[in-house]
Amino acid sequence: MITGKTKLYGLFAHPAQHSLSPMMHNLAFKYHGIDARYMAFDVAPEAVTAALSAIRTLDLGGVNLSMPLKERVLPQLDWVAENAQLIGAVNTIKNDHGFLRGYNTDGLGLLQALPQTSGLEGKQLLIFGAGGAAKAAAVEAALNGVRQITIVNRHTGPNSRGQQLVTTLQQVSGVAVELLALADLSRLKAAMATADIVVNATGLGMGAHLGESPVPDKSYFTAQMIAFEMIYAPAESKFLQQARQAGVQQSFNGLPMLIQQGAAAFEIWTSQAMPIELVKNKLNND
Ligand code: NAP
Repeated sequence: MITGKTKLYGLFAHPAQHSLSPMMHNLAFKYHGIDARYMAFDVAPEAVTAALSAIRTLDLGGVNLSMPLKERVLPQLDWVAENAQLIGAVNTIKNDHGFLRGYNTDGLGLLQALPQTSGLEGKQLLIFGAGGAAKAAAVEAALNGVRQITIVNRHTGPNSRGQQLVTTLQQVSGVAVELLALADLSRLKAAMATADIVVNATGLGMGAHLGESPVPDKSYFTAQMIAFEMIYAPAESKFLQQARQAGVQQSFNGLPMLIQQGAAAFEIWTSQAMPIELVKNKLNND
């Protein structure tokens, strides 16, 4: 029941209506008996300052942010977590009595979605893409002990996102970083041959790029690597199909990452764990 004390949380995005976040968070509030609700708000980029101000005015508990607002809010927050500063984007805000704290749980979502037995210490990670999702994953992996990160991007010139990401990663001590052009197939093959974890963080495989993959063919995969696809619709992208045909034993689509980034946000707000299995069952049955 909604009461006079019900706390409101939400998603600010543009568009926002397609999001799975309201289902996840409302299910988790109900599971824990927390008197709160989560709503999706379509916030146009030019309205982001007013929307942030509304968090304080209406005393919202917190919000998630999605495209295209994640970068824009950063300068307007009272405090930003170190990983979010490095990534340059915030996907979760907590309202502490009017003091707005910014976090980024996207990369953590990916790390949590990987098999926890394998760990990241000393591993070689190869990421296709250098956009927001790739950056979040790469920074988090670098902060969590990965040995080497290879970024493979379409554009690799001086002001490209590929180059910018490499510069950011070089600020995170200890990690070896390499930038490859997507079209440099001989270097790509060599890099994939030694990679422990390969992540597709490009849009190749969904929407207008359905049936496409950043990998030319299945011969680039090795059976022992972990193949991670950030796309969750379709459930098996071309990238995952190639991995399966190459005999890759451990492959994942973007759904566990989506759930885990939401779980990390839920924990920031409530100090409670999201009921992951309940959320997965609901998503699989809907
Ligand atoms: P983004 O910031 O727009 O970055 C897109 C990346 O893809 C860039 O590196 C871009 O290369 C590359 N790219 C785009 N079109 C390409 C093409 N035709 N050929 C080769 N490369 C191309 O997007 P994002 O927010 O990082 O999202 C990337 C993917 O991750 C999307 O599929 C998104 O749905 C998914 N995602 C999933 C989750 C989850 O929870 N599962 C969370 C966030 C994102 P250039 O730099 O050269 O342009």
